[in-house]
Order: sequence, then C-alpha cells, then structure tokens
Amino acid sequence: MAKRAASSSRPVHGALPLTPDFPPQNVAPLPAKPGTWTPPKEEPAWIAIWQNRSFDIAVLAVGLATLSFILIFQDWLAKHPTALTYVRNGFHVYTLFFIGWWGLAQLSVINVLTFVSSVMQGFHWENFLIDPMLFILWGFVATTLLLWGRGVYCGWLCPFGALQELILLASRKLKLPEIEFSDAVHERLVALKYIILILLFGVSLQSISEAAWYAEVEPFKTVISMRFQREWEYVLYALILIGVAAFNRKFYCKYLCPLGAALAIPGRFRLFEWWLRRRKECGKPCQVCANHCSVRAIRTTGEINANECHYCLDCQVIYYNDKLCLPLIDRRKRREQQLVRGQENKANTPAKNVVVSESHPDDMGTAGQH
Ligand code: SF4
Ligand code: SF4
Repeated sequence: MAKRAASSSRPVHGALPLTPDFPPQNVAPLPAKPGTWTPPKEEPAWIAIWQNRSFDIAVLAVGLATLSFILIFQDWLAKHPTALTYVRNGFHVYTLFFIGWWGLAQLSVINVLTFVSSVMQGFHWENFLIDPMLFILWGFVATTLLLWGRGVYCGWLCPFGALQELILLASRKLKLPEIEFSDAVHERLVALKYIILILLFGVSLQSISEAAWYAEVEPFKTVISMRFQREWEYVLYALILIGVAAFNRKFYCKYLCPLGAALAIPGRFRLFEWWLRRRKECGKPCQVCANHCSVRAIRTTGEINANECHYCLDCQVIYYNDKLCLPLIDRRKRREQQLVRGQENKANTPAKNVVVSESHPDDMGTAGQH
C-alpha cells in the first residue's frame, strides 16, 4: 500500500487512499458523542430457529387451515359419513407422522405447568418462541378451546390420541372385541386424570423438574419425542397403554391424561354453543348417540359433556341419519306411510269415481277431497 501511495503522482494532504482494502469493512460506526456508544444488538435466537423451520411451519399452517375448514363444514361432513371417515383417518395419519414424529410437537402437561409457573414468576415470550411448532400449536389450541372446547385438540391434533385412534381402527378391522366399563366404574375412572393433574400442579409449585419426572405418566416422551428409543420400563408402559386402546377407545385419554384434564378446564369457558347439534328428543327418550359414543361423552340426559368430548363427529353422523336417529326414523316412517297412503288413494280414486258416477253422482266431491 505504501508503494502504491508513493507511486501516486500527486498525493493530496488529508485525502484517504482508495485501495481495495480501504475503506475497511465491518467496522462499527463511530459514536455520535463520546460516551454514548452501545454495541450492536444481537438478533434473538428464536428468529433463526423460526427461519430454519420455515418448511415445518408452512406444513403445520396448511394442516391447521385444513382443520379449520373441517370444523366449519362439519355439518356437510356429518351428512357424508364416508367422506368424514376418510378425512378423519387421513388427518390422524398427518397428526401422528407430521406433527408428532416429524415435528416433535406433542403438547404436554409440562407445557401447561411451565406456563403457569412463568406467569407467576415473570413471563418471557422468548422462552415459548424457541419452539415454533409448539408455539403455533398452542396458539391454535387456545383459540379453539374458547370456541369448541378441548375436543379439537384431543380429537384431531394430539399425536398420541391419533395413534390410539389408528390402533382402534386396525382393531375394528380385525374385529377384535371392544370392552366397556360399567357406568359406575367409568364415572370413577374419569376423575383420575383430574387427580393426576392436581398432584402434578402441586409438585410443580415446588419444582418444575420434579414435576417433569412425575409427568412421565404421559407416554408422549417415549412414544413421540423418543420414538420408543428408551429404557424398557418406559416402552413397556407405553405399549400397554397403546394395547389397551385397541379394546377400549382412548382409554388413556378418558381416564389418565393430565393434559386432557388441563384442557378441559378452560374449555368450560367456551364463548359459543354453536358446536354439536342436539334434538329435543336426545336422551328423552333416545339413547342412540349416547350408546354409540365410545368416548362416553354423552350423558343419559342427552347433553354432551364438553369436558370429555373429543369432537369425533360420530354423533353428528347419527344426528343426520334417518336410519339411526330415532326422531328421524319416526319422521321418515310417517312420510313413507303418507306416501303409500297417497299412492293407494291415487290408485283407488279412478275406480271409486267409476263406481260413484255410476250410482251417486253427488259423492264425487267427497271423493275428491281425499
Ligand atoms: S386426552 Fe391426552 S392423550 Fe388423549 S387426545 Fe387429549 S391430550 Fe392427547
Ligand atoms: S360421538 Fe361423543 S366424542 Fe364424538 S363428537 Fe359426539 S359426543 Fe363428542
């Protein structure tokens, strides 16, 4: 550089030499005033993570948009049960493989406990933004909780729930028997998951890491996050729960899941009641839906228990089916009888006319009134 500066014909005093390595690059700007310089701000770590996972985020967004359409057009699907079966099974495959095993976005009761503890100790968005899939999923679930209750997550978006549904599907194809507990046993078992939740919450007040250990009651880590690559005790426990689901629909969800219990609590504050349709005859006397709901979310009085419903739409298929729903069967039979009577009258009318016209011409008006 000195050589080149020296070879310049007329160096100007104070002028800066324009060489390839001058002006120097990547030098922090000079402070405006002495003492006011601050180092350049670093980008938060979560931004880079979100950028790296843009493909996963896009596929998740498409999945959630599809589910929103399913919920909006649930009546159409309920009137087309074959389409509903394909849509539901397809969505469960997506949930298990993409949300679960690919995206590792299985929500857990530990997320809930961490959220509660962070609200109590000072909330920081950054802690939750670090996993974009979990963040988006929680945002969607929070919204649907207020509109439809816990069923949207449990029935459609939970990877372990989807796995149990697919296992049951296979078991029904193999015609394995389904076992149900008596009402008395069922009512008691349902309370178990709330007790587990309360205990976990109590432990989390002492220590979140201890609560995380007890939260192994959830088989999610074994089945979804670690894909069964764990110590045999955990794998055995998970396999037992999956095996039981083949004979009793969503046994774990109905009786043990603390996350399901945690979701049921805010689900009680739903903003609208525009969800699953019921008739005034539901439960009084009709029990068809209640007997058909293998999640056992319909009371004998006919109401749907939003705390337990998994939004599978099976009862909505019955609601629109005039071969299954008793009031609709009644109406259909009455319609058919009227039709038969109408056809008989039509068939009899010309013959009557002939007879009447032959004997009493005045009776024709009466015959016409029938
Ligand atoms: S009850 Fe638990 S395991 Fe079952 S679907 Fe809901 S969150 Fe998933
Ligand atoms: S059949 Fe049961 S679980 Fe399914 S939507 Fe109806 S009430 Fe809910």
